[in-house]
Amino acid sequence: MALTRCPECRKKISESAKICPNCGFSFKQENLEIYKQKLEERHLQNTEINRKSTKLHLIWFCIFALFLIIASVITQS
Ligand SMILES: [Zn+2]
Repeated sequence: MALTRCPECRKKISESAKICPNCGFSFKQENLEIYKQKLEERHLQNTEINRKSTKLHLIWFCIFALFLIIASVITQS
């Protein structure tokens, strides 16, 4: 019996199963389409979050660098 992985709960289930016994995920074609769409949305959200956090990191780095410059100026004078 071939085993496959449920895309929803990542548990191993029989390839012939129409519904995942663990989480109830259905392997019908229409549901797989919906799942693909969800995955795509999640992926887009993740890239958006990553972009935002990268920007935030850059801002914090600038603040930190500025702080270091000010600190070095103060200690030198
Ligand atoms: Zn499942």
